[in-house]
Amino acid sequence: MRYVDEFRDPEVISRTAEEIRRLADPARHYRIMEVCGGHTHAIYRFGLKDLLPENIELIHGPGCPVCVLPMGRIDDGLAMAEKTEVIFAAFGDMMRVPGTQGSPFDYKARGMDVRIVYSPADALKLAEQNPDRQVMFFAIGFETTAPSTALTLMRAKSLGVPNFSVFCNHVTIIPAIRAILDSPDMRIDAFIGPGHVSTVIGCRPYEWIARDQGRPIVVSGFEPLDLLQSIVMLLRQLQAGEARVENQYKRVVPWDGNRAALRAIAEVFELRPFFEWRGMGFISQSALRLRYPYAEWDAEARFSVPGVRVTDPKAAQCGEVLKGVLKPAQCKLFGAECTPEHPIGALMVSSEGSCAAYHNYEHRKLGDLQLPISD
Ligand code: SF4
Repeated sequence: MRYVDEFRDPEVISRTAEEIRRLADPARHYRIMEVCGGHTHAIYRFGLKDLLPENIELIHGPGCPVCVLPMGRIDDGLAMAEKTEVIFAAFGDMMRVPGTQGSPFDYKARGMDVRIVYSPADALKLAEQNPDRQVMFFAIGFETTAPSTALTLMRAKSLGVPNFSVFCNHVTIIPAIRAILDSPDMRIDAFIGPGHVSTVIGCRPYEWIARDQGRPIVVSGFEPLDLLQSIVMLLRQLQAGEARVENQYKRVVPWDGNRAALRAIAEVFELRPFFEWRGMGFISQSALRLRYPYAEWDAEARFSVPGVRVTDPKAAQCGEVLKGVLKPAQCKLFGAECTPEHPIGALMVSSEGSCAAYHNYEHRKLGDLQLPISD
């Protein structure tokens, strides 16, 4: 298949959904985690849950980079920028994410120079255009976006741009999956593997999940048929008592990943010993920091980082939702105190956040209409 329409063909979709119903053992309850926030969004957007039998439960995983960032890191970035009067540059996704004193947009309203950029390269350009100002890029994302930050830092170094720096919050997906599998309150039968991250890291890094943990994993695309086919592939493995890594998203994901992108990551970044994840605590070797040769462009070396540790508001259950222990609507604040217009947690802000996805599609479908946020 070559075109998007073919992945949304109602006839093929209903045949695939029928196959899922045929394969699913009615005596069993299947708990399948979609790791990636983009998958969560697609599942709600296309109403895929309604096509599945009730004994297939989809659990939303921690694959939304904005959502897993603890509030303290947002406060750190904003405090550094405010104190030193730098230009704070970040992706649009970050702009409404609340810190304890407000979101980047709130800081902008209070007079801070906050700019939306579409890539780290745009932030570097901003630095070149404003040689008398410091520009700090607030970098977030899994291995999907780390290569573009790495390439930008390589360029900043080769051009010798002195007024550009990166506040690095890049995280890595494998330790988060490991933390979920180690968590005593989680029981996952199989994984829908992340599509975007895998375009960079490939499928090999998941082999331990099948080999050591006995859980099948299928790397999936984002169209309705991609996700349904992935569930078929997982059910076939589960029914046969097998656990393998399979690649449903072959048209985009190379088995061995993108070597040039991996080389750029390895050149610029190294693993942090520990990094805090929202709701999941400190996870070892789960995030990236700049290597010594790039220290000159490291915001954490250039400015003093307050190192704020903040717990989420007591009633907010972002951590439980991120770990898949609760569904979005089970959070006490969902749809009342926390809405896309007045978010309390990042999961209600990001286009990959499960609370926003649930609110925009499922909640509205149930008749409790709210204004949707943009995608
Ligand atoms: S509804 Fe809001 S507070 Fe509750 S889990 Fe979602 S984002 Fe967090």
